[in-house]
Amino acid sequence: MTEPLLSVERLSASYGPIRALTDVTISVPDNSVVALLGPNGAGKSTMVRVLTGLLRTSEGDIRFAGKSLKGLNPERIAKLGVSVAPEGRRVFPGMNVEDNLLAGGYTRRRERQGTKSRLANTYELFPKLQQRRMQLAGSLSGGEQQMLAIGRALMGSPRLLILDEPSLGLAPKIVADLYDSLAEIAGSGVAILLIEQNVEMAVKLSSYGYVLVNGRVVADAPSKNLRDIAAKAYLQVDESRDRNAV
Ligand code: ATP
Repeated sequence: MTEPLLSVERLSASYGPIRALTDVTISVPDNSVVALLGPNGAGKSTMVRVLTGLLRTSEGDIRFAGKSLKGLNPERIAKLGVSVAPEGRRVFPGMNVEDNLLAGGYTRRRERQGTKSRLANTYELFPKLQQRRMQLAGSLSGGEQQMLAIGRALMGSPRLLILDEPSLGLAPKIVADLYDSLAEIAGSGVAILLIEQNVEMAVKLSSYGYVLVNGRVVADAPSKNLRDIAAKAYLQVDESRDRNAV
C-alpha cells in the first residue's frame, strides 16, 4: 500500500499543563480532501499549529511525503509543500493584495518564473483579487480576505493545503462560492486538510473525515456518513456543557 501524503500518528500536544490533543491519528492521501470537524475548543487550531511547526510536541509522529516533520521549523515545513490558510485569515492589512500574495510565495522566491505563473493562476482562480490587486488587504470584505488567505497559501505551491475554518463568519452565498473555488483547487491535484465547524459544507467537499472532540478523535468515516456522526458528537458536547453549567 502506498503511504498517505500526510500521516499523523498518536499525536499529543499541550500548552504547559493544558492538554489540547491526545493520541490523534489521521491521514490525508494524495489528491484528496479530508475533513477534520469539531466544535469550539476541540483542538483544531492546535492541530494546525503542530502540523506547521508553530507548536512543538514530543509525543506521536507526523510524516509528510515520506519525511518526518517533527522538529522542523515552519519555513522548512512550508518548503516541503505544506501551506496553511489560518483561522481568521490573518492577511497583512497594511499591505496591498498583490504584496500579500507575493509574501505567500516567500519560500519559493528564487523561482521567479514560477512566481509569475502562480500569481496568474491565483488571479484566474479568484478574479476579484486581480481587480483589487492594489487595494489594501485590510479594506477587503471578509469573503475577499478569505480568498486572499487561500491565494497566499497557494503561492507557496503546496502539495497539501490546510484550511482552518474557511467559512467562519461568512454569509452562506459567499461560503458556497468559496467552496466552488476549493473544489477547483482540489481538482488541480492539491490535497486539502479541511478544518471546519461547518459540517454541511465540509462533508460535500471531502471524501473522508474525522471528528475531534476535547482533543481526541471520537469518530472517523467516509464523508457521506459523517453528517449524522458529527451531529451526535456535537450534541454530546453540548449536553455535557449543559450538565456542567447546572
Ligand atoms: P476554535 O474553533 O474555538 O478555535 P479549536 O478546535 O481550534 O477551537 P484550539 O484553539 O486548538 O481549539 O484549543 C484546544 C484547547 O487548547 C482549548 O481547551 C484551548 O483553551 C486550549 N488552548 C488553545 N490555545 C492555547 C494557548 N495558547 N494556551 C493555553 N491553552 C490553549
